[in-house]
Amino acid sequence: MSEKRPATTTDAGIPAPSDDHSLSVGPNGPLLLQDHYLIQKMAQFNRERVPERVVHAKGGAAHGHFEVTDEVTRWTKAAFLGQVGKRTPVFLRFSSVAGELGSADSQRDPRGFAIKFYTEDGNYDLVGNNTPVFFIRDPQKFSDFIHSQKRRADTNLRDHNMQWDFWTLTPASAHQVTFLMSDRGTPRSWRTMNGYGSHTFMWVNRGGERFWIKYTFKTDQGIENFTDAEAGAMVAEDPDHHIRDLSTNIQNGNPPSWTMFVQVMNFDDAPGYRFNPFDLTKVWPHGDYPLIEVGRLVLDRNPENYFAEVEQAAFEPANMVPGIGPSPDKMLQGRLFSYPDTHRYRIGANYLQLPINRPLNQVNSYNKDGAMRYQSHGDPVYAPNSAGGPHADTEYGAEPSYQVSGEMVRTASVLHRDDDDFVQPRALWEKVLSPVDREHLIGNIAGHMSKGLTPEMVTRVIAYWTAVHPDLGAGVARAVNRAPQPVGSSAGS
Ligand code: NDP
Repeated sequence: MSEKRPATTTDAGIPAPSDDHSLSVGPNGPLLLQDHYLIQKMAQFNRERVPERVVHAKGGAAHGHFEVTDEVTRWTKAAFLGQVGKRTPVFLRFSSVAGELGSADSQRDPRGFAIKFYTEDGNYDLVGNNTPVFFIRDPQKFSDFIHSQKRRADTNLRDHNMQWDFWTLTPASAHQVTFLMSDRGTPRSWRTMNGYGSHTFMWVNRGGERFWIKYTFKTDQGIENFTDAEAGAMVAEDPDHHIRDLSTNIQNGNPPSWTMFVQVMNFDDAPGYRFNPFDLTKVWPHGDYPLIEVGRLVLDRNPENYFAEVEQAAFEPANMVPGIGPSPDKMLQGRLFSYPDTHRYRIGANYLQLPINRPLNQVNSYNKDGAMRYQSHGDPVYAPNSAGGPHADTEYGAEPSYQVSGEMVRTASVLHRDDDDFVQPRALWEKVLSPVDREHLIGNIAGHMSKGLTPEMVTRVIAYWTAVHPDLGAGVARAVNRAPQPVGSSAGS
């Protein structure tokens, strides 16, 4: 015998009159405005979408936990890192960057790696990528860069000519474009790629000592990438391959995990370090700052509602908990503003009250009202007050600080001893990539160049890769049937 099914209701909980028929004048007649149920269904349907993210639109996510495996209290007082064995719930969203909501997961692109740690001191968001560096080092260039990777204004088509135009005119991009064009630009799954916090952050311990740090999450599944051909085939076979891979593995009891490491730089070492430690186009070589293990992140629960949890998930690099603070990295400084701004636009002023975004601890802010607010602590709604309302713990809550002074300028950062846009991608080519990796890098670049580049642009692109390494430039030239170019030929116009 079948169980009694629950009755359909309107969104106000009123028993629905019918699942199938609108209210009409006679069986064939016109419909009546009083059919509130029909109007509610149509109106709600028209409002199902929020604006898609301008970047990182297509993604997937899972819940899990982070467990501390190593003692790090000598560097940070962050409570969730306070003792070995401590567990904190997390939500991690993976994404591609340039494609729209319906784009294929396996296309060549960096991947987002955004973590929300639900700590006892509020939410800590670490909003990183699967690459340790980025294309630019000043947020002034961010919208220009993204426009060059998205669709043209006239045809609404993506344009490789436009992409290479921006990259070759922006030598700072060379390190990230090398990652992007290598097989790491087409990860086989989100489970088989690393994550990086990318920016430099500050940690401060209980004694007030400050350190600069960088985060690395190494996949415990091992790195696996698609070749260019495999990635292209998967675009056609299953555009949702990465979402499916993650959710199926979790569903089948195969939870992926990552080991979290930090690199720690003494606060006073920054000015004299051979690279600018706050430049997002640079890594800190492991020989200078080795990886130190901190803990393990496991994803073991799929979202129950994609829209509510993944589409409305709001990560913001500005969400830092006591013991962690920003560095002067210009890109990070820009993102501190930009992320909450986009959430207010996409989801609304009270996005932090949604279950996926709200912290597990109690919120005691004096903010009030606004569209869709349903929680507030009531009166008094101002501070100071004489009614015993919450007041700031200015010692525990104080953000880590550092001294700054100088003229207001609009200028590039001062170069450190070994700073140069090509030295680190050159190290990647010379020291890290295997012969097969190099061959694939050249093939991937040549394949990308085969899509609509003008002859002048081909010349500029070869010059760009020659600046990274003459062998790489010569390899790319050969692959596109051009003569090699001398080192020092102009990559820009
Ligand atoms: P190391 O040899 O100590 O580290 C090289 C790093 O590259 C490792 O983290 C390795 O870890 C990663 N790697 C390995 N194969 C590839 C690949 N095919 N594509 C991209 N990364 C790869 O060298 P250094 O720290 O001195 O850095 C040398 C160069 O390595 C840098 O200029 C940078 O381009 C690259 N790199 C450096 C990182 C860093 O934080 N220092 C991080 C990632 C890359 P894994 O295989 O686990 O990813």
